[in-house]
Amino acid sequence: MNTVDASTPPAPCADLDTLRQRFGGRLLTDAADLEPFLIDWRRRYFGRALAVAMPDSVEGVAAVVRWCAEQRVAVVPQGGNTGLAGAATPDEAGRSIVLSLARLKRVRALDTVNNSITVEAGCTLAEVRAAAEAAGRLFPLSLPSEGSCTIGGNLSTNAGGVAVLRYGNARELCLGLEVVTADGETWHGLRGLRKDNTGYDLRDLFIGAEGTLGVITAATLKLYPQPAAQITAMAAVGDPHAALRLLEQAQSALGSSLTAFELISDLCLELVAKHFPEHRRPFAQPSPYYVLLETSDSEGETHAAAVFEALMERAIETGIVTDAVVATSGAQSRALWALRELISEAQALTGKNIKHDISVPISSIGEFVEHTNAELQRRFPGIRMVVFGHLGDGNLHYNVSPPVDRTGPAHEDEFLALQPAINRLTHDAVHAFGGSISAEHGLGQLRRDEAARYKSTVEMALMRRIKQALDPLGIMNPGKVLPPG
Ligand code: ZN
Repeated sequence: MNTVDASTPPAPCADLDTLRQRFGGRLLTDAADLEPFLIDWRRRYFGRALAVAMPDSVEGVAAVVRWCAEQRVAVVPQGGNTGLAGAATPDEAGRSIVLSLARLKRVRALDTVNNSITVEAGCTLAEVRAAAEAAGRLFPLSLPSEGSCTIGGNLSTNAGGVAVLRYGNARELCLGLEVVTADGETWHGLRGLRKDNTGYDLRDLFIGAEGTLGVITAATLKLYPQPAAQITAMAAVGDPHAALRLLEQAQSALGSSLTAFELISDLCLELVAKHFPEHRRPFAQPSPYYVLLETSDSEGETHAAAVFEALMERAIETGIVTDAVVATSGAQSRALWALRELISEAQALTGKNIKHDISVPISSIGEFVEHTNAELQRRFPGIRMVVFGHLGDGNLHYNVSPPVDRTGPAHEDEFLALQPAINRLTHDAVHAFGGSISAEHGLGQLRRDEAARYKSTVEMALMRRIKQALDPLGIMNPGKVLPPG
């Protein structure tokens, strides 16, 4: 069950005064105040809600959830509202409370010996990174939306980003959680332990659950030493197969110092240059693909530069790389990263596009791209592939834009009508290659039904049983992750 139990009618549902008194925080009920909370970042999902509750304490969160459980009202937890799958947007029934964690903002503890930090869910990723940096440490989760996205949301969606190759995704950076359960109890699981074998791992159940099992209110996270030096380079390669050979060489040469390895297709850089003319391709000759790679060195600048340049020379000698630029200053490094980070925005400025966030085993990526590009071109001639992403993690943002002569608002509906067929072809290929149709964005509403299509009945049944056990009333973010029924 993952919808509000229809057989239990709510008490006159708008007893919002009681709610306001009980949790003592800010309760928004005016339509204009609610609006920004009822639409997702990509503006693809619109919902309705009774109110937005903004508690400023864990007790406040628990009080809101208890009221919702009594009233059989759905709870839709929301962090920075930057998710890409519609998980934080309520449905259209208008019987939800959006529970914003934005006011839970304390850094509760930082331990430089245990290398851990304990923060509340509403801290933005940038705030957590800054708190770590002020103590001479690194919190390595790194996403373009770091100024708005919050730690609670990062954990609830098990966010990835550009440093997963070295440090892992949000799940792997989390040591402990504090969670308000679906009946309004608080689980104090903020353990700073690297080792804890005492039964079922509740922490890992709540991470990536997208608020469907409980509300993450705080987390204890891993910290790392700040690297002594970082060097960024961009290499031109002929195809993803060559990029994979470079990955192998880079991992042999750099070991765990290799902290980023991003693939970028030429069309991505063309779109960035078109919409942000100050960001041009760093090479005189265009190449079908590029790799943006970064090393984080503990020994310092000279050592890092020597190892990196040797790697690039060898890659050019062996014909894997046709050209390369190594950034020699912080400004140059930021300019190379900007090329990568502006791709999504540049593609959005080009018009509507169809996004996929897929992963396949790293070794299969070359074959996957070749096969799927060819199949898509055969079925939908002229469509343009905007392919980029975290090659080192086997995760690509495998996006599709309309043909050049079918671009623009007049053709939008015609292009979006192809979406189900393009999704099906792409995701069937992902499945055939042993991959996942959501690598780092989660399921939310966007991929919920498709995920169910590719998962086995055993896997779906286990997931439903977990949902039923932890949220028997079905009030926690209904309609997300699991299909109703
Ligand atoms: Zn990504």
